[in-house]
Amino acid sequence: MKTILQQHVPHNTGWSAEMKQGQVIRITATTTVDFVFFKLQNLIERFDQPRTKVYNMKLFISTGDKLMGRNNQHMMTITYDGNQTGTHDLQKGMCSGYRFKLAQQENRLAEYYPREIKEIPDHGCYENLSKAVAKYGIIPEDIPSPFNLNQHMIIDGKTGKMEHTQVRPPEGNYMDLRAEMDLLVALSACPDLAVGGKPVDVMIYEP
Ligand SMILES: [Zn+2]
Repeated sequence: MKTILQQHVPHNTGWSAEMKQGQVIRITATTTVDFVFFKLQNLIERFDQPRTKVYNMKLFISTGDKLMGRNNQHMMTITYDGNQTGTHDLQKGMCSGYRFKLAQQENRLAEYYPREIKEIPDHGCYENLSKAVAKYGIIPEDIPSPFNLNQHMIIDGKTGKMEHTQVRPPEGNYMDLRAEMDLLVALSACPDLAVGGKPVDVMIYEP
């Protein structure tokens, strides 16, 4: 195993890097991480939540499952999922300053989050990811809805009702994802209002 890079991503900030086909990214986190990626040679080809769900025929993906692009191409594969306490989310978009503000204006913070929110952040994953990919000429509106690592939600299969939880993995938890093509990858260490966000550690390596 040869380490290509290792970086610390502070709470409520974004990060991006390039990966070569066959390299693996290890994301170590105890908080929600909004993760997106784009085909490096053609940045308009990107991760797609619905195709990923339908390809794997499930809402929750884990070790061995593939993450798909808009044209049904294999973009990444989860080679290790260390989260034994919860699941990862493929329903949600990115949290953002706009979203927090609206929830506050509509007095719905308590409905969305299972803990008291005294102060809302002025930005979230949308702004963090926007900044992280700006130098590649990707505009915020072109960032796909992410793969939200460690965001454990309860989904009622009959009514479709979704519920945030405070279930998050313990210290040391990580996921490994292999690039199936050259990629631009980006992530945000989510402010994760359900639990209070934490920093994230990233490593890219050749297995
Ligand atoms: Zn977020």
